[in-house]
Amino acid sequence: MKSFRGSAHNISEPLLGRVARKHLLFDGDHTVVIQKFRWGLGHKALLTTNNDLPKQYVKMPCVYGVSQESLSELHDGDVIKVYPDGNIVRLWEYGSDQNVIFVTDKCNCHCIMCPQPCDSCSTSSFLHENEEILNIISPETNSICFSGGEPTLEPKQLESLLAICKRRFSNACISILTNGIALSNFNNIKRIVEQGNKLLFCVSLHGDVNDVHDKIMGVEGAFAQTMRGLYNLARFKCWIELRFVIMRQNYERLPYYAEFIYRNLTFVSHVAFMGLEYTGEAARNIENIEIDPVEYSTLLRKAILCLHRRGMNVSIYNIPRCLLSRDIWRFSRDSISTWKKTFLDICDSCEEKVNCCGLFKTSVYISPHISPITSSKIDNNRMPN
Ligand code: SF4
Ligand code: SF4
Repeated sequence: MKSFRGSAHNISEPLLGRVARKHLLFDGDHTVVIQKFRWGLGHKALLTTNNDLPKQYVKMPCVYGVSQESLSELHDGDVIKVYPDGNIVRLWEYGSDQNVIFVTDKCNCHCIMCPQPCDSCSTSSFLHENEEILNIISPETNSICFSGGEPTLEPKQLESLLAICKRRFSNACISILTNGIALSNFNNIKRIVEQGNKLLFCVSLHGDVNDVHDKIMGVEGAFAQTMRGLYNLARFKCWIELRFVIMRQNYERLPYYAEFIYRNLTFVSHVAFMGLEYTGEAARNIENIEIDPVEYSTLLRKAILCLHRRGMNVSIYNIPRCLLSRDIWRFSRDSISTWKKTFLDICDSCEEKVNCCGLFKTSVYISPHISPITSSKIDNNRMPN
C-alpha cells in the first residue's frame, strides 16, 4: 500500500476517509480534503503541502508539510487513513483493479513462502474499517479482492462484507484469495456463496500430490481438504482460479500438475503459475525454496502448453518475459501491483518492457539472468525450446 508522511495537527486517533480534491474552499493542488461521506459532507481532515500550519486550519485535524509529489498521487475517490504521527496510508485507489481488502491477519496454514506472515491467534478485527471503505468507495467500482491471512476464517465478517458488495456493486467481480481449507465445510461455502454476486475463488494448490502441497502449506491434510473445497465450489458453480506458486519443492511436479488438473479439475476457470515474491517467510526461507525461473522454464512451458492445448485458460504471473520461452510470452500477465513493481536500469533498452510484468520491489532475490530483449535476441536466442 502506498504511504507517505507529513506533520499531524489535532489528530488524536486514526481517521479514515475519502479524498476530495475538488472543493469550494480549497484548491486541490495544495490542499486535499478528507471526507467522511461519499456525498461531500462532514470533512474529517485536511492534507496540505504548506510547511507551517495555516491559521484557518487551526481547529481542523490537519496534516501539513506533505510533499507536492505525494499529494499529487492522490485522486478523488481514493480512501486513505491518517495517523496521529502524520503517517498517511492509501487503503483504496480509485479506478484501480488492484485494490485488496484485508479481512483478517489470521491463517490456518504456515506456508514456507508466505509473503505476509500471519498470526494464527490474532484477535484483531478489521470489520469496521472494511465496512467503512466499502461504504464510501465509488458505486462504479468493478473489481474487489478479499484477502488476508485467510479470509474464510472469519465467515461472519466475510458474509457481511459480501452483503455490502451485493447491495452496492451488483455488477462487480468479487474475488476471494483462499487456501481453500475452510471451504471443505459445505455449510461455510453455502453461506458465503449465498451472500455474494459473481464470486471468483482464487485457491492455492501448490502440488498434485499431498506430500508436496502439505509440506509447502505446513499443514498435514491440507491437500485433501482443499480438494474437497474445490469440489464444493464446483457444486455451487463458482468461478475458480487455481494458483500454483513455483519453488524448489514443487517445480519438478509442473507437468504432472497440469495433467492432474486436466484429469480431475477441468471445471476450474483459470490456472495461474506464479513466480515467487521473496519477502516475509519466503525471504527467511530463501535457501530452502529459491529457484531461478530459468531452471524451470522448460517444465513450465510443458505445463502451460499441456493445459492450453486442452482448452483450459492458463496464465503466468510474476515472471519477467526475459526468463520465459518466447512461445509462452502470450500467457504472461501484468500481475504485479503498481506500487510493488520495479524494473532494473538495463530494462530501459528492452523491447518487451511495455509487455513485461516487471520485478517485485519487495523481493530480496533478483534473477541474475535478467537481460534486455532486443530484436536480434528475439530472432536468435529466444526461440521455443
Ligand atoms: S500464503 Fe496464504 S495460506 Fe499460506 S500462510 Fe500465507 S496467508 Fe496463509
Ligand atoms: S529485461 Fe527487464 S523489461 Fe525486459 S523482460 Fe526482462 S525484466 Fe522485463
